[in-house]
Amino acid sequence: MSSQQQQPHMVLMPSSGAGHVIPFLKVAGALASQNCRVTLITSYPLVSQAESALITRFLTLYPQVTEKQFHLLLLHLPPNDHSDDSSKDPFFRQWELIHRSLPRLSDILKSLSPPADALLSDISLMSSTISVTESLNIPNYVLFASSARMFAFFAYYPALSDALSGSAGEDELLEIPGLEGLPKSSVPPLLKDTTSPFATMLRANNDCIKKFDGFLINTCDVLEGKTVRALKSGKIVDGMPPIFDFLYPPWEPEKVKGSRSTAWERWLDEQLPASVVYVSFGSRAPLSREQTIEVAKALISCNYPFMWVAKFSVVDKDDGQSMHQVLGADLTRQVKEKGVVVQDWVDQQQIIGHKSVGGFVTHCGWNSILEASSNGVPMLGWPQGGDQGIIGVAIAECGVGMLGGKWGWNGEFVVKGEEIGMRIREMMESQKLRSRAAEVMEDIDKAVARGGVCDRTLKQFINKFMS
Ligand code: UDP
Ligand code: UDP
Repeated sequence: MSSQQQQPHMVLMPSSGAGHVIPFLKVAGALASQNCRVTLITSYPLVSQAESALITRFLTLYPQVTEKQFHLLLLHLPPNDHSDDSSKDPFFRQWELIHRSLPRLSDILKSLSPPADALLSDISLMSSTISVTESLNIPNYVLFASSARMFAFFAYYPALSDALSGSAGEDELLEIPGLEGLPKSSVPPLLKDTTSPFATMLRANNDCIKKFDGFLINTCDVLEGKTVRALKSGKIVDGMPPIFDFLYPPWEPEKVKGSRSTAWERWLDEQLPASVVYVSFGSRAPLSREQTIEVAKALISCNYPFMWVAKFSVVDKDDGQSMHQVLGADLTRQVKEKGVVVQDWVDQQQIIGHKSVGGFVTHCGWNSILEASSNGVPMLGWPQGGDQGIIGVAIAECGVGMLGGKWGWNGEFVVKGEEIGMRIREMMESQKLRSRAAEVMEDIDKAVARGGVCDRTLKQFINKFMS
């Protein structure tokens, strides 16, 4: 315990990707607002401009930064020599570089004054941070950026190994104690190949679960209550450390007053309530050129106004191609007649919260799902890889979204525009989805209200460090 026992010192360390940085900033903001001293360690250089911009914005918004209650430290990475494997995902490569730099984490932690009361780090860093914190006797928590369903899968992963690599068909259900069966088809190929680097990372991290002091999971009862209860009961991992489940509160307090609205905001203002289809595949899942063309055809054919955040590369810095180059002149003209296409980083929270948005075509990134659920927006899930298939199952089970169908993983094959358009219409016209989404929003509103269950869980967590 630090000398300032009424101000616990929390050290937060995310991994790479905007989808990981955002939840860390949310928890950093929440802890700082609860009078904790917060040190955020980010790797340097970061992979994407989006990550740098998010951190810069956070630092300008939080008064705790100037009051010296909040510090940013950089973990300098070794040079990025990717001659060995240039095809590797840049975010995964970054994760490897962070791992190689972790011996320096020990020096950073030792240098902190007052000393750290806890490290909260990304799940992908578990196997390396644990040796550092054990030797320094600092409690170590994982701040999980994905769904409880994904966490349950991760926690039970070694026991699923035979079922995943075996010959069972894709419709077979994987059994995880205390949960509904998980279709094998929701697990991406990289995790079925138990020798892949991703699978190896999961197993190494899984091996040290019980050495951790606890897990923070960004979820709530209405979305994943059953899964959280199964995790806490020890049915999935006997001796599971404490789980703190609460929705990480937004870190942008409100839209900066007086800021000018963008062209797309003005366009959204002109549309009818709940009439717009919002389409985004997150911060790092570009579709192939062929698939992008089919999405364009789907949006044109289904006759709803739409707003499409289109990405053509994994890392934003490399986003060189224009819509025109990908779709050609004729399709580009038709797309622009019916909707808005944005090729920049947008404030997705604001779009999803706009009254005109009536449905969301999503790749099922967990942050996106939470943003839509909190705003009562029905979803059409189209998982592309990673944890997204498992998240897709969670939203379909909760009833707040539907899944496209057997649409394969990113790049596996091209789904025709006609089929996508049909499913978009189904989502927009489904009263069942709309009323369930409204119910879920109401429950979330209660959970995140001041003094609600999320507030209480966060305080319970902080109280562990108060004398
Ligand atoms: N996001 C955003 N603007 C963009 C693209 C993404 O604000 O142009 C945010 C989005 O709101 C979400 C996060 O970036 O909070 C993406 O995380 P998610 O888990 O949905 O997907 P990922 O990008 O990690 O696959
Ligand atoms: N993940 C996990 N255990 C691990 C490493 C990763 O459960 O040991 C989860 C991670 O939290 C994420 C998912 O696997 O939800 C996919 O991870 P990745 O970083 O590749 O992609 P992203 O989160 O950007 O979709």
